[in-house]
Amino acid sequence: MKINEIFFSIQGESTLVGCPTIFVRTSGCHLRCTYCDTKYAYHEGRQMTVPEVLSAIAAYPSKRVCLTGGEPLLQKESFELLTHLCDQNYAVSVETSGDISCLAVDARVRCVIDVKTPSSGELGRFKLQNLTRPNSEFKFVIGSDEDFFWSEAFVKQYCIAEKNVVLYSPSFEIIDPRWLAEKILQQKSTARLQLQLHKYIWSPSVRGV
Ligand code: SF4
Repeated sequence: MKINEIFFSIQGESTLVGCPTIFVRTSGCHLRCTYCDTKYAYHEGRQMTVPEVLSAIAAYPSKRVCLTGGEPLLQKESFELLTHLCDQNYAVSVETSGDISCLAVDARVRCVIDVKTPSSGELGRFKLQNLTRPNSEFKFVIGSDEDFFWSEAFVKQYCIAEKNVVLYSPSFEIIDPRWLAEKILQQKSTARLQLQLHKYIWSPSVRGV
């Protein structure tokens, strides 16, 4: 499988925010979101076998792993890697675009699934069957007023908040987090505000290189 980077850091997103975590970033993504902050992972990377990735992970002092990208589920070895990690008693999560079915992901893995909003430029790239997967949470990146109300309508239409955590994340340096916080309160939204913690701790320009 093609790996862009493996590193140990603090989880900045999802309900797992703040947890020391080993990140495995795969190379390659079939989408081109306007706000993408991991463009360096579109092509750069090196081939590694699943045992080599497991061995690299074992060198870090944590039993928590996040598989991210790029789009990790583009590579069939990712599914195998996730199952091996669960078998080895890691707490495992995967961050995915929402445009690939997560139903074949090991049920022990926490899936953090994007729903692409209008300002992403990738509206409609979502597999509705992902809404049926247990042990999942759904993330909407909010970059405009339109995004907010589109997301509210989508969550309501599919009753997502009744079974899953819904995360609203302000598009970094596009939307003021306070604006989104006030919007959630004013509109009586059931979404949970998510700040990308890592971007407030480390400058994006020095991450991931
Ligand atoms: S899905 Fe993720 S990695 Fe792919 S273009 Fe969008 S933000 Fe970037």
